[in-house]
Amino acid sequence: MRFSRNGRAAGVAVTSQKRRGILSKVGEIRVFVAAHDFPSSPQEGHEPRACRPLASKSASSPIPLPSAPKKDKRLLIKSERGEVQASVIEEGVLVEHYASGITDTAVGNVYAGKVGSMLPGLESAFVDLGEEKSGILRLPFQRKKSGQRLRYGDPVLVQVAKDSRGHKGPQLSGKLSLSGRFMVLMPASNAIGASSKLDGRERARLRRLLNEILPNGEGAIARTAAAGCSKEALENDYRDLKRRLRDIEAKYERAASSGRYPALLKSDSDLALKLTQDIFNDSFSALQVQGEEFEKIRSYIWEKSPELLDRVERWDPDLEKKDLFEEFRVKEQLSQGLDRVVQLPNGGTLVIDKTEALTAIDVNSAKFSSRSGEMENTATKCNIEAAKEIGRQLRLRDIGGMVIVDFINMQLESDRELVLSALQKAMKGDRSKHAIEGMTSLGLVQITRKKLGKGLVESFSHECEGCHGRGIVISPRLSEEPSPQGA
Ligand SMILES: [Zn+2]
Repeated sequence: MRFSRNGRAAGVAVTSQKRRGILSKVGEIRVFVAAHDFPSSPQEGHEPRACRPLASKSASSPIPLPSAPKKDKRLLIKSERGEVQASVIEEGVLVEHYASGITDTAVGNVYAGKVGSMLPGLESAFVDLGEEKSGILRLPFQRKKSGQRLRYGDPVLVQVAKDSRGHKGPQLSGKLSLSGRFMVLMPASNAIGASSKLDGRERARLRRLLNEILPNGEGAIARTAAAGCSKEALENDYRDLKRRLRDIEAKYERAASSGRYPALLKSDSDLALKLTQDIFNDSFSALQVQGEEFEKIRSYIWEKSPELLDRVERWDPDLEKKDLFEEFRVKEQLSQGLDRVVQLPNGGTLVIDKTEALTAIDVNSAKFSSRSGEMENTATKCNIEAAKEIGRQLRLRDIGGMVIVDFINMQLESDRELVLSALQKAMKGDRSKHAIEGMTSLGLVQITRKKLGKGLVESFSHECEGCHGRGIVISPRLSEEPSPQGA
């Protein structure tokens, strides 16, 4: 099944850029099937094995078939000379972008850390990870668990819970959690849960299955991709995760007993597999891959979610006479995601500025053209256009923390509600946790959003060395010697 081309004009050609950072070898996720083990073409057919079998002996309730995607939504993965870039495209519009070695987050990395100085007042300790910055580990958990205090120089098994920001080092956790295709395993917790994106009946079914599979004292959360999953598929996922966990623990014991720490024990360095595992599900109409990652990704989907196999397609740039990213104007849309000013379709603009504490988004109607000619109407229309674009920009730029939007003033309460609901709708597809507060009488809206990675602008830029990011040049007259003729 071929997808239809969207017939857009060719964008700026995607050139191969030399960038720092190279994706390292296959990470923790193993490829389970040799490439020749599955049919050479999905059309040849196969029995779905892992998920949603047609007749399952383990299923106690009817299992839904994969639902047809509601809109054109694609995950594009392109690999070139060991570097991977990936984009999520919705209805032709770029909404998320990732690049190996650049947008990578350290969240989920596991280390054999070395305990540094203690901060008794804060009940936490610095932990040397062998990286640029030391991490911060809160201690109460450690103390309760082991009954003994950590001492300077001790080894400690930690996982990054939050990336470092500015001068602050990464936040660490002493409780590990590991993500699989269908669940997040939390071996030190007792909690069983399911993604809030699933409907109530499915959540209850998955919670029941997890309770059956997991021994007491282990916790897990079923992920969105687990919708309709058989017990067998969940069990396989659980076994994979346990294997990875034992592997990490063994590595830690070796590092601790030999004194070879700090050391990195696990990182999700395989961007292509990680994205396939974490985000590709039945809401996507296609997963298109250009480059050598294709076989690995197809193997993974064949193993884990065979019902989605016919949505995985190889893109051959020679055959298509076009680069995959060029076809979807990725580079062009990406450069818009780095600009301070974003043009709206009818002449209005967004101006996006990041400060230490928050991101400010200013909505301007400057040249906004509206046929009605009424001021109020123009403001509302421009604000609604802005709201839609803000939802996309927050996702594309992966802006985190507090965001303040300064909309154009509107007199009518009903107009403010229209704009707020447009904003809510625009942010609905955002898989990151977010909240929108109401609008003040001056047209300010506060949004909070949790970052997924490092942020697009942060990843693809560095601070100006001339003004250290302030964006101004102080007049040299201030530093001049007072002239003898003056005064
Ligand atoms: Zn500057």
